[in-house]
Amino acid sequence: MNLIFIGAPGAGKGTQAEIVEDKYHIPAVSTGQIIREAVREGTAMGKEAKSYMEKGALVPDEVVVNIIKERLTHEDCKNGFILDGFPRTLPQARALDEMGVRIDKVINLETDDAMIEARLEGRRVCEKCGASYHVESRPPKQRDICDRCGEKLIVRHDDEPEVVRNRLATYHEQTEPLKSYYEAQGKLCTVQSQQELEQTTALVQKALEA
Ligand code: AMP
Repeated sequence: MNLIFIGAPGAGKGTQAEIVEDKYHIPAVSTGQIIREAVREGTAMGKEAKSYMEKGALVPDEVVVNIIKERLTHEDCKNGFILDGFPRTLPQARALDEMGVRIDKVINLETDDAMIEARLEGRRVCEKCGASYHVESRPPKQRDICDRCGEKLIVRHDDEPEVVRNRLATYHEQTEPLKSYYEAQGKLCTVQSQQELEQTTALVQKALEA
């Protein structure tokens, strides 16, 4: 199964992608996570991407398309994958089609901006494995420690309120048009992101089984 998760920052793409990854044993591929790793390691791509990311802007299409092109050649993507955070613009979606990558379903997680701002304020992430938590709705077993790998959890710099506003504006302007793009291909499944994580998970599950 080849899946795409789209939605505003903080809509729950990463969390739902992780849940689907564990259930279906297909990798969740997060361009945001790959870019953050590159920034930490100080690679050429990381250096280029850093300033965009810090402002809450998108990294140039060409950079992320190359990341995905390379990542999808890995052995673990052979039986399927979940794209979390890619594509985020129409040119990226077209590039994916041009690569000949078959997509089965696009899960669109719908939210409203007020919910997003509240959610991102409480988000904590693991820098090592990318797992995502929320201080109230999805706390780790041990405060500020990742359940998966035992690393310390951090607040992402781009979850600061001012950067979040830019990220939301970028989402509305550049990513939302993807809904009609995939609707026209008959692949769009819209799921209303709920207050309770388990309810969203159940709706995603239903969309995947439909
Ligand atoms: P995320 O972890 O998905 O919220 O992504 C964090 C940041 O990485 C975004 O705000 C962008 O700066 C960058 N990024 C991730 N995925 C993409 C993409 N598909 N296109 C452009 N920039 C991206």
